[in-house]
Amino acid sequence: MGNLIDEIGGQLQQLQAQNLLRRRRIVDGPQGPLLNVDGESYLAFCSNDYLGLANHPALIAAARDGLDRFGVGASASALISGHSRVVEELEAALAAFVGMPRALHFSSGYMANMGVIQALVGPGDTLFSDRLNHACLIDGARLSKAEFRVYAHGDMVQLERRLAKNTSSRKLILSDAVFSMDGDIAPLPELVALCERYDAWLLLDDAHGFGVLGPQGRGSLAHFGLASPRVLYMGTLGKAAGVAGAFVAGDATLIEWLMQRARTYVFTTASPPLLASALLATLALLRADDARQRHLRKLIKQLQEGLADLPWHLLPSETAIQALIVKDNKLALDLMQGLREHGIWVPAIRPPTVPKNTARLRISLSAAHTTEQVARLIAALKTLAVKHAG
Ligand SMILES: *Cc1c(COP(=O)(O)O)cnc(C)c1O
Repeated sequence: MGNLIDEIGGQLQQLQAQNLLRRRRIVDGPQGPLLNVDGESYLAFCSNDYLGLANHPALIAAARDGLDRFGVGASASALISGHSRVVEELEAALAAFVGMPRALHFSSGYMANMGVIQALVGPGDTLFSDRLNHACLIDGARLSKAEFRVYAHGDMVQLERRLAKNTSSRKLILSDAVFSMDGDIAPLPELVALCERYDAWLLLDDAHGFGVLGPQGRGSLAHFGLASPRVLYMGTLGKAAGVAGAFVAGDATLIEWLMQRARTYVFTTASPPLLASALLATLALLRADDARQRHLRKLIKQLQEGLADLPWHLLPSETAIQALIVKDNKLALDLMQGLREHGIWVPAIRPPTVPKNTARLRISLSAAHTTEQVARLIAALKTLAVKHAG
């Protein structure tokens, strides 16, 4: 009989040998474009705080106010005694913001996806999932025990063929709205049209679109001017919204069912209500103006133009996620290290997070960056390109 600790120790050594071992770095102080990492200050392009709200004074003040009014803990699950009035207000505000009848608040996007899929489908039903979907959609699919069909990334022809052949009573399409490692936007008008044509439903994960895309950051459906009762919209609140948590919005009957039956909603302690206070401040900022989104778009253009002549290419993306594909795991790590020597922190993303031979630097831009900071990144990458090409 093998020894579990020795066996896993060996697996860890293998990861190390393949340059796949991950390390955490300790961050002191708040999030922002300048990060204090392991005691040194870096210009960081690694966060999902796309609007720079994670350390915004209005959110901090609202969280303090929430702390004074509600204390720290929620004490129980929402269905027992943990559903605070401020969360009720937040759900109504989120539903209105994304133009849906009703919303349900979850403590994270991961939990939301896991809970929603399992509540809606089971054995005998079929899930259709884009190959590049986020891990939590895939895990939710596995838990549900519904049949799981993967279609090639963005391939609406293949998806349609599969939908046309399928005879299950419930068909649920799963898709990231903005793909988290590539930054491209799913073909939402086509997805919604396929739902209508084949009596299917869409769970849309807008973790990287909510707050960023569409007027005032109302999300990727608003970006396309789409509305459909066949869509369940999942937005996360720990990325552009600057706080933590998630919500699912959609038809009121479906949302009521999720409240009754989503296990990751029913069987978990509610989030601290002070977070909902902070999130109401987020929504007030978003509704007030979209200068942050405009500035972000300007930075995206600046980066794309600045990196056009590199030996590596950026994947096409109009979002804050800009993936510079370098293919080789070691080169990705070397570039990450090279940038670090320039005082810049950009994460190298390697398999299994992304497909083999597509290792990359995942550059995340934020409205909190200045054009000067983006220029610094461009200059450093150009210097490294000369070094690694020669
Ligand atoms: C981050 C992310 C999630 C998970 O959201 P959390 O609130 O961080 O748990 C889900 N889907 C996608 C596409 C994500 O990027």
